[in-house]
Amino acid sequence: MKLFKALACATAFAAVAFSSVAQAAGYPERSITMIVPFSAGGPTDTVARLVAESMSKDLGQQIIIENVGGAGGTLGAGRVAKADADGYTLLLHHIGMATSATLYRKLPYDTLKDFEYVGLVTDVPMTIVTRKDMAASDLKGLIEFAKANKDKVTVANAGIGAASHLCGMMFMSAIQTPLVTVPYKGTGPAMTDLLGGQVDIMCDQTTNTTKQIQGGTIKAYAVTSPKRLDVLKDVPTAVEAGLAGFEVGIWHGVYTPKGTPAAVNERLSKALKVALKDPNVAARFAELGTVPSSEADATPAALKAKLESEIARWQPVIKAAGQYAD
Ligand code: ASP
Repeated sequence: MKLFKALACATAFAAVAFSSVAQAAGYPERSITMIVPFSAGGPTDTVARLVAESMSKDLGQQIIIENVGGAGGTLGAGRVAKADADGYTLLLHHIGMATSATLYRKLPYDTLKDFEYVGLVTDVPMTIVTRKDMAASDLKGLIEFAKANKDKVTVANAGIGAASHLCGMMFMSAIQTPLVTVPYKGTGPAMTDLLGGQVDIMCDQTTNTTKQIQGGTIKAYAVTSPKRLDVLKDVPTAVEAGLAGFEVGIWHGVYTPKGTPAAVNERLSKALKVALKDPNVAARFAELGTVPSSEADATPAALKAKLESEIARWQPVIKAAGQYAD
């Protein structure tokens, strides 16, 4: 009986292994959907579209972007957690995948149990920017203005768990002044309102702000990278501008639903590596102050390690702040 059971198990295991290889062998046979958990036109969307276009060429099938914004990226992530684990639904998310695991005490998915990993995509600094007609000439002046008008000064973000939310909270905590936050489904629409002067301040990825800063349609007060950026040479780092320790980098990763065959994730990771070496992608990333992940990081193991370490890193910070989404 024991032998029979062992044989049955071995056969079942072989069947699963075979089906996973078989699924990867012909994969992909049709177009793939990549969910971006923020609005179209924003920075996560920009990264996703650049990478997806190049990955599509390597895969021989189109990757179609679907924007599912809301609740700081958790709606889109929830959609992918519940999707079929067949390699035809992907998620491109950023650091919010890690922070929302603590910020939201009731998520409709388990961040560490409901996903598989494809690889890391890029690292992007943030910028502290304002509407164009903000009078302050430097970050010190902006902080003085914000403190003096704290009940009126608005800070746009993409909802709790978004990178802009995280950076905005860090800013308010650094200046020890709560300001009025205005949530959007992504910083694409938030940028439209910043350009129109309907909101005052935003802390957002360079992917969204570089062109506007260069064009003078918004004002930049700081970048959150350890060094100044080549594409924004005149913008000081937040530390240089007076905010000690204010450094934050936004990393992006591609995920699939739990149970997606390892061979499929590896195939996607291969396409991701090709995309990150694509000269067009590299050139666009460079223009936007974005650094593509290395070949070693564009892998399932590297993304898994990153997500786990980032959850562990942010958990005590968020718990200490006692700021939850519910
Ligand atoms: N930059 C946004 C954020 O704050 C997301 C986006 O719209 O891409 O996370």
